[in-house]
Amino acid sequence: MSEAMKRVAVIGAGTMGNGIAHVFAQSGHTVTLVDVQAAALERAQATIDRNLDRLVAKERISAEDKAATLDRLSTSTEMHGAVADADLVVEAATERLDLKLKIFEQLDAAAPEHCILATNTSSISITKIAAATKRPAQVIGMHFMNPVPIMKLVEVIRGYDTSDATTATTVALSKQLGKVPVEVNDYPGFVANRILMPMINEAICSLHEGVAGVAEIDEVMKLGMAHPMGPLHLADFIGLDVCLSILRVLHDGFGQPKYAPCPLLVNMVTAGKLGVKSGEGFYVHTKGSKDIQVAPAFS
Ligand code: NAD
Repeated sequence: MSEAMKRVAVIGAGTMGNGIAHVFAQSGHTVTLVDVQAAALERAQATIDRNLDRLVAKERISAEDKAATLDRLSTSTEMHGAVADADLVVEAATERLDLKLKIFEQLDAAAPEHCILATNTSSISITKIAAATKRPAQVIGMHFMNPVPIMKLVEVIRGYDTSDATTATTVALSKQLGKVPVEVNDYPGFVANRILMPMINEAICSLHEGVAGVAEIDEVMKLGMAHPMGPLHLADFIGLDVCLSILRVLHDGFGQPKYAPCPLLVNMVTAGKLGVKSGEGFYVHTKGSKDIQVAPAFS
């Protein structure tokens, strides 16, 4: 591994942050995982521990590899200290423009001059985020997929001012993590979510209009289109709040009614039904179990 990119800070320890910290630590980087909530850091550590145990059980890594990975990983609720000697920061905090702008302004002030500031945003403009800093050439989208330790793709998004050097380093780093980077340009939703979210939204509209039930909609897309997971199950997995935020970015960015979030999605997020992370969305999810049942509201 390049010594130049050894120290990594990951901001946000939710669904994505724990996986991003995991893959960097497993591939030899020294990682500090940061969250404003100590409880999120504890959950993330427990998840990483469980996921590493699975890799040991499958004999993909040894027990020593697991211990060494955990040794390279620390957590903090204090962002400034955590990024002070970072070579790379990957921001994976809540999908809100105002929050990301604030975080990037602070990162720019606290991180060393050479440090690359990457964001895992699903849809927000990299160019807009970069404009909150004085180093737009060193700001880039590094969009991992969920679950990060398993999914191969990293969508690498160049902002308007992102330099060739920053892009080349990000592409090389992604490969070094065992991922497959794909370069795309900076338009709302990039490629992955511009295509995925309208499909998920349409599945929710189909449910809302009574075309079919939750299990039936997912079954059609699994058996008919060979999708490994139905769109409603996938929405639960991504987080319904995250889906809603992305659809709003697409709707605002393109100004076309086809991206308007389904009212059912808006209601569910308002009611705190966020999918896997809250225990209920279109399905009821039990912690530590893969078994799911259609949520009472839809059964
Ligand atoms: P999440 O809601 O699970 O976690 C977000 C975390 O950020 C929370 O723990 C929260 O406490 C923390 N946070 C909020 N403000 C913070 C701050 N100022 N400093 C540090 N931490 C802060 O969200 P997520 O699903 O992990 O999404 C994170 C990012 O990754 C978003 O930009 C999202 O669009 C993107 N993303 C999500 C998915 C997915 O499937 N969920 C996939 C790809 C990309």
